[in-house]
Amino acid sequence: MSARVLVIGSSNTDLIAKINRLPRPGETVIGGTFLRAAGGKGANQAVAAARAGAEVTLVARVGDDDFGRTAVEGFRREGICTDHTVVDRERPSGVALIFVDARGENCIAVASGANAALSPADVDHARGAIQRADIVVLQLEVPLPTVAHAVRLAKSLGKTVLLNPAPATELPRALLRQVDYLTPNEHELKLLLSRESRVESREPEEKRKRIRSGSRLSTLRSRLCCCYLIETLGAAGVRAVGPGFEARVPAFKVKPVDTVGAGDCFSGTLAVAIAEKMWLTDAIRFACAAAAICVTRPGAQPSMPTRREIEQMLKRKT
Ligand code: ADP
Repeated sequence: MSARVLVIGSSNTDLIAKINRLPRPGETVIGGTFLRAAGGKGANQAVAAARAGAEVTLVARVGDDDFGRTAVEGFRREGICTDHTVVDRERPSGVALIFVDARGENCIAVASGANAALSPADVDHARGAIQRADIVVLQLEVPLPTVAHAVRLAKSLGKTVLLNPAPATELPRALLRQVDYLTPNEHELKLLLSRESRVESREPEEKRKRIRSGSRLSTLRSRLCCCYLIETLGAAGVRAVGPGFEARVPAFKVKPVDTVGAGDCFSGTLAVAIAEKMWLTDAIRFACAAAAICVTRPGAQPSMPTRREIEQMLKRKT
């Protein structure tokens, strides 16, 4: 039986301009090409998980418009269950405006629309689906109270929770404490820690010394209180730490076209591997292989690899 992954999060339409270099404030950059693609961190991770072989349900909100209809048709084509993808009659679908420069660097602005209305009640309606899932996956492009509610509900039902803390923001320790797998990139981790650093500076000197004496990543993990901390480092791969576990996994060497969706691909496919009960180092390697394929293709959802492609990449040496 396939692993069952339940994703709670955003669905956007990505409007991507490929240009030579990213514009500065007040500047217009001319030239390049335009691409429209389905995106949104929740939807991207759902598609990544479905193509990697899981049975996926997406809890999300889209508008009653062309972008929303196209998104839902896309999910159905991927075999994703849309029973809990709500069509919001009042708000437009979410849109992300993305610039990608010649080196593959990106810069993104998101107009949330219906995503901003995803509510704890929407999560409660999906309770049965959460109950049936092997893992619940969340990100931060929907309201934080909804994320916090979903994490609490999933944990009360005994579920494994993976939180991809993106876009970068500070998060309450009470929420992080309930997370089994936290998958920040470098920037997101730095932001998560900025609050913790302030808390730490108020702690007694003896405790601060104890914290500093561990390895750097396990120190960070103990400060964040999550169970497994899995930090993605772009082309440098991943480093991870958890109870009795520490690993460094290199990225697969590829020629990047654009890195849009790399983190989403990583989290979505990591969730599948965890739900399939792979050893964590193998699970991370599986997700690195998927994310490496993702960066060789333009766009977010269109660039997510199939299980077959991931298995081909895994046969290669990193
Ligand atoms: P985000 O997209 O959230 O910024 P990262 O840039 O850290 O996240 O990328 C997530 C994962 O994607 C990395 O851990 C790595 O496995 C893979 N990846 C990203 N960029 C590259 C690259 N240039 N070459 C190979 N793999 C990459």
